[in-house]
Amino acid sequence: MIGIVAVSHSHTLAHAAAALAGEMLHEQPVRIEIAAGLDEQTFGTDAVAVSEAIAAADSGDGVLVLMDLGSAVLSAELALELLAGDHRVRLCAAPFVEGLIAAAVSAAGGADLDEVAAEASNALVGKQTHLGAGAGAGAGAGAGAGAGAGAGAGAGAGAGSAPGTSEREKVQRAADLAREIEWNGRGFAVAESGPVSRAEFIVDNPHGLHARPAARLVGAVRGLDSSVLLGNLTTGAGPAPASSLSRLAALGALAGHRLEVAATGADAAEAVDRVLALAARHFDEAPGLVAEVAPVARGTGPLPASPGIGIGPSWQLAAARFDTTDFDDPGRAETPAGERRRLDAAISRVRAEIDRLRVTAGTEAGIFAAHQVLLDDTEVLDAVHSRIAAGTGAALAWAGVLDAGAAELDRLPDEYQRARAGDLRAVRDQVLAELTGRATRLVSRAGVLVAADLTPAQAAALNPAQVTGIVLANGSPTAHSAILVRAHGIPAVVGAGTRVLETGAGTTVALDGQTGALVIDPDPEVLAEFTERAVAQQHQRDAALVAAGKPAVTRDGITVHVAANISDLADASAAVRNGADLAGLVRTELLFLGRADAPSIDEQEQAYRALAEALDGRKLILRTLDVGGDKPLPYIEQAPEANPFLGVRGIRLTLARPELLRDQLTAIGRVAADHPVGVMFPMVTQLAELLEARRILSEVVPQNIPLDIGIMVEVPATAAKTAAFADHVDFLSIGTNDLTQYAMAAERGNESLGSLADPLDPGVLHLIDTVSRAATGRARVAVCGEAAADPAAAPVLLGLGVHELSVGPPSIPLVKAAVRELDSTSCRALATRALTCSSAEEVRALIP
Ligand code: PEP
Ligand code: MG
Repeated sequence: MIGIVAVSHSHTLAHAAAALAGEMLHEQPVRIEIAAGLDEQTFGTDAVAVSEAIAAADSGDGVLVLMDLGSAVLSAELALELLAGDHRVRLCAAPFVEGLIAAAVSAAGGADLDEVAAEASNALVGKQTHLGAGAGAGAGAGAGAGAGAGAGAGAGAGAGSAPGTSEREKVQRAADLAREIEWNGRGFAVAESGPVSRAEFIVDNPHGLHARPAARLVGAVRGLDSSVLLGNLTTGAGPAPASSLSRLAALGALAGHRLEVAATGADAAEAVDRVLALAARHFDEAPGLVAEVAPVARGTGPLPASPGIGIGPSWQLAAARFDTTDFDDPGRAETPAGERRRLDAAISRVRAEIDRLRVTAGTEAGIFAAHQVLLDDTEVLDAVHSRIAAGTGAALAWAGVLDAGAAELDRLPDEYQRARAGDLRAVRDQVLAELTGRATRLVSRAGVLVAADLTPAQAAALNPAQVTGIVLANGSPTAHSAILVRAHGIPAVVGAGTRVLETGAGTTVALDGQTGALVIDPDPEVLAEFTERAVAQQHQRDAALVAAGKPAVTRDGITVHVAANISDLADASAAVRNGADLAGLVRTELLFLGRADAPSIDEQEQAYRALAEALDGRKLILRTLDVGGDKPLPYIEQAPEANPFLGVRGIRLTLARPELLRDQLTAIGRVAADHPVGVMFPMVTQLAELLEARRILSEVVPQNIPLDIGIMVEVPATAAKTAAFADHVDFLSIGTNDLTQYAMAAERGNESLGSLADPLDPGVLHLIDTVSRAATGRARVAVCGEAAADPAAAPVLLGLGVHELSVGPPSIPLVKAAVRELDSTSCRALATRALTCSSAEEVRALIP
């Protein structure tokens, strides 16, 4: 199938035109690539973007390029020069919107490049006919439009060819058809010979045979081996081939007009039947149809990420800025060579982060591409290097050069060029953040935060007393930022698509973090419905909270420990308030993030001790530093990795930097002397890793200090080898977030794979079953991934033998309430059936 490229000065115009064309396609995929605007707000065209779009659109059958005004044409021409490789490209002079729609419908029907170009070039015929300008411009109308009008463009009865029919065959069939059927304005005059089918029908669509029903008509006869013509008996207009959207529009068929359809060919009767059936169905248009909302820019739509109803005025993140007037650079090295190394490392981390963002950015990817170019700008780098060589620190040298560049751009008269100063400053700040370890600070505001994505540090900094909800354009429910948002109890939906970023500040937003429902600017009835649901949920939570302090015991007397996943002191207090039996997972990495160097032993001891004290006698299970993956640390030099989630993370990293592990275990040991404490190692894959970590532990923590020791089971191989680990640990805690991503080969931060990464997939359940069976009688088994907080998962996990669920503090009362409703015998039966299912959906369908 041929591809289409839409080149416009306006991002919004091109996307809207493509969405409109998409409306006509009736689930028939056509590749429409867009190269429009210099960014979402700035008008302009970019030849590089056009050439990339052409390459992306070409599946081997050629590409039709439609352009709007002036320099769009110049950019498209330049793009042809920039284009690498062998591509058949046609620049088409058709009107942008009408041409795009006609081309899309024609391409969906399997037409070749010439045919699609001709269709697009004829796209004005309908309008011209209607308005009387160039009335009757049937054959060849628009054919003078230049590049796009190829041979046969608009050739009267020349359409109706089946997909794949050659140009020569098509011309031959048109001639045959013209002999057999002749339109005389009052109907088709049919020659004696030839298998011709005919029928009449009345158009009863309120707006006549406009673009959408006409597109349905084109689709209905697509693929048939007949030529089909239509004429308007009411006005005499015609004939129009049923395969041509633009020619059908020229029939000017309004509501109440009588049309005649005639077909010739092997399946002529079927063709006519299809047209009649479609007309009887009002061309699949609902009466009083209102425009459907165009699909969101990307992703699968909002995904539920943190339960609860969120309502409030929207606000967006203000870009944090580094102030270099009062500047300290805590990581500064002694020598210029050391500073060069720090700079190179910081730039390569920013580049890796931009790479990651580009993949998930959809329509925003162009912005990140521009940022990457700036990072590689040799002029900039040379200037920074000379400042460093002269003794300036990397951070100040970098800031100085980029500030000067931005100031120069600020002075230019051209608005577009001036706007590029913002890119320069964004890149400046990203590299400075890496160099200095200072996270861009996020100041919470009242209402619903709408953002592209959040870093874990930003999510952790949100104030739940102010932020009533979160809507992320990107992100996924198991990304670390979503987990932290859940821990704060802030309702959230993620993966909502980049269009949500257009929400104006102060616009009311309503969301349901349990179902993923999201309404921007709801009308009063919808708002009342959301408010009602919020009140009902609050009642349910209040009722669960009353009993939260009591143990969670199933109906048949099995006690399930419901623990808290915490990161800081506020979480620890929330855990106690919500009735946690213990803290089953302390994500200690938060203490290490957003700073220039690792916390000292004393600092760590103080932090862990404060948590233990807040937990007031409840056990505290501290997970050793789990960074790498989507949580890089600025002061740990790590070579860039193509797949950080499959790279040096968790225990792999701390064993590679044993001083970090040693310090952390020392601090943990000191607290364990006075409080009930456990230690847990993340991302363990080999027994040797555990034994080495235990060896370091034994060197820094005296034998007589009681300390529970466990590992996280996050790697499928570890789950399968549980028997090898079980005698070396007190407990195993299954991290279903990572276990699911690795078992399903579905990255946890990738919103488009959200439905694949379901921990209730039987493949994941089999791994949990293996862990549970192999550990029985040897080590305790807990689940601390997000699955533990899913009320639907609780009976399955219990049935698989899991007796500890560690969840975000706000989920504790509801999980305890759910456990109290369960019966372990029924749970076991349910789990046994779940293991025989073939999908998570099937498992979920079993759950009462
Ligand atoms: C997990 O992987 O399930 C887990 C609890 O660890 P984290 O989400 O911090 O990677
Ligand atoms: Mg994990």
